[in-house]
Amino acid sequence: MFDTVLIANRGEIALRVVRACKALGLKTVAAYSEADANLRHVALADHAICFGPAPSQKSYLQKGEIILAAKLSGAGAIHPGYGFLSESAEFAQMVEDAGITFIGPTSAAIRQMGDKVSAKLAMTASGVPCVPGSDGALPEDAAVVSAIGAQVGYPLIVKAAGGGGGRGMRIVREPSELLQAVAMTREEAGRAFGNPSVYAERFLETPRHVEIQVLADRHGNAVWLGERDCSMQRRNQKIIEESPAPGIERAEIARIGALCANACVDIGYTGAGTFEFLYEDGSFFFIEMNTRVQVEHPVTELVTGVDIVAEQLRIALGEPLSMKQSDIRFEGHAIECRLNAENPWTFVPSPGRVTEWIAPGGPGVRVESHLYAGYTIPPNYDSLIGKLLTHGANREQAVARMRVALDEICIGGVDTTVALHQKLMQEQGFRNGGFDIHHLERLIEGDVLNGAKA
Ligand code: ADP
Repeated sequence: MFDTVLIANRGEIALRVVRACKALGLKTVAAYSEADANLRHVALADHAICFGPAPSQKSYLQKGEIILAAKLSGAGAIHPGYGFLSESAEFAQMVEDAGITFIGPTSAAIRQMGDKVSAKLAMTASGVPCVPGSDGALPEDAAVVSAIGAQVGYPLIVKAAGGGGGRGMRIVREPSELLQAVAMTREEAGRAFGNPSVYAERFLETPRHVEIQVLADRHGNAVWLGERDCSMQRRNQKIIEESPAPGIERAEIARIGALCANACVDIGYTGAGTFEFLYEDGSFFFIEMNTRVQVEHPVTELVTGVDIVAEQLRIALGEPLSMKQSDIRFEGHAIECRLNAENPWTFVPSPGRVTEWIAPGGPGVRVESHLYAGYTIPPNYDSLIGKLLTHGANREQAVARMRVALDEICIGGVDTTVALHQKLMQEQGFRNGGFDIHHLERLIEGDVLNGAKA
């Protein structure tokens, strides 16, 4: 087995992984780009290797370089974090072939779940409810495509099997628009994802985004760790996440959770993973699986007490899960606000030098961030600078603690989304809970937050 883990990522998640490794007595190697020499995890890791210039294409996405860095530093395992190469079946395969442990599922499982058509087929076979749609990829034959469109019903959404990051999909409201939408999505998908395969499913007008966290070991055990409601989104990007999802029957969550855990066993899935669902009119519809740790994993950690990153490491070490489903308890309510270095109203990125950083504290407050005063946020990467989480006995207390924490946090020198979160904590729809995925866009379009003018 391994005693040293190379972290092929940056920012808050790299720091999170270094901390988890240290707590388990594992040594760490930070593989960082030229822009990231001053990151906290680079200082905290046992070894650090600068393996390329700032642009991620030349560093964090360099598969061969990362494997070479692991070999040179004696790391027996690679943690990919999220984003970058975390869901690249090709990279996972290269790591496996190099005799190094990939901290995540097998490359075969990533490949199966990374193709949304094969993922839906596997989920349907396992009894997980999916958005009704075409059985597999759409064929070339126009008449057959039209017939499938009529069967799925309108509005429908044409999606790329290899799509990701909210790209490669098109809503179709009229049968007359279908063939052109299919052709355009196919063309786009071929270019962007190297896979022109597309499928169709019913378009849900006002769904909520509710996802289930799972953990599965290499001994055939799998558990579900409750749900996260991630409906507060802008352009398909999550902004606030919480657990439990307000107003959904616990028995229904438990039923879907058990189906997800069973599906892990059916497909031979190992590691941490998330089943993403759209939830509408009391029903869950699977849309895709994320085969990695997610940004919002601490929400689940706060309500269950399970250290998801430590479990990822233990699973990779070949250990059985440290808990059974019956051991898992859900306590209180947790909320996460993503902190981005962006203008809170226009969402324009705001990299630069952080002149002040004062983290909030108190009962039920957790901060996951790599920021410190004097750190310079490079312009090359995602604008996420941290996550602020609160936990309370109930939603009201978690929201109250979030309000206090947001008022307390000081981040100087760059624009951040703190002011947006402060507004949202007071906003009636958020206060009520259970809003759909278009809620934030509606507020922005209606100028309801009115931040720029406030
Ligand atoms: P990606 O991998 O690009 O994130 P997803 O399949 O997870 O793609 O879908 C991203 C988002 O697109 C969803 O969170 C939802 O907002 C919207 N979406 C996807 N499928 C549907 C659908 N069938 N009906 C309505 N909205 C959808």
